[in-house]
Amino acid sequence: MELAYQRVLLKLSGEALMGKRDFGIDNAMLLHYAEEIKSVQRMGVEVAVVIGGGNIYRGVNNENSVIERVQGDYMGMLATVINGMALQSSLESIGVYTRLISAIEMKEVAEPYIRRRAIRHLEKGRVVIFSAGTGNPYFTTDSAAALRAIEIGADVILKGTKVNGIYTSDPEQDSTAEMYDRVTFDEVIDNSLRVMDKTAFTLCQENNLPIVVFNIYEEGNLQSLLKGQQLGSVVSG
Ligand code: UDP
Repeated sequence: MELAYQRVLLKLSGEALMGKRDFGIDNAMLLHYAEEIKSVQRMGVEVAVVIGGGNIYRGVNNENSVIERVQGDYMGMLATVINGMALQSSLESIGVYTRLISAIEMKEVAEPYIRRRAIRHLEKGRVVIFSAGTGNPYFTTDSAAALRAIEIGADVILKGTKVNGIYTSDPEQDSTAEMYDRVTFDEVIDNSLRVMDKTAFTLCQENNLPIVVFNIYEEGNLQSLLKGQQLGSVVSG
């Protein structure tokens, strides 16, 4: 089968893992993520995943906390390891081979990040989950997604969100908002469109790595995308 992309970096938000809960990890959502990933892994797509931690802890926007920023950021990174472990279990429960990699050394639960090794896992058809973000404070998991995607030579970043794509303005506030099918990196900047944080976005732009923003909640979307169906919004040069 002709695949739209051979090697992908799927960015999943931690916040989405809450499902309908206020905090933590929702089982149904976890299984949904796993099933979506399995459906494309079975097609022969090489899948690397970066998962966020927003459902458990975020270091940013925490001005009134006694936990200072850097400490909070490390807590956020550890939260992504917890989510990564959960995603690994859910994938394994439906028969998908995975490797969990952590940017912060934690050898009892995850492999350290060794680029060539991560690529080898992908070549063998294992789903690679990158956790602990970039391993550095003051970054986000979007930056980690951009960085790892470039490092492993992914063809695209697939950013799974709760909305269908990138809009001219916030569709929840503005009923005239329209969705872009395609948009260039420059247009995103000129029109202050929200796709990723600036650090992550710049990394993608400088390395000419396309980003697809799509709705991950809808069953089958990921598969349709990889079969080449026009879906979500594509950012490219
Ligand atoms: N974080 C960090 N460095 C990284 C990645 C993440 O310090 O390279 C911290 C940061 O505090 C962030 C938190 O981990 O707020 C959780 O990640 P993020 O907010 O990106 O998760 P998401 O919004 O995707 O759930």
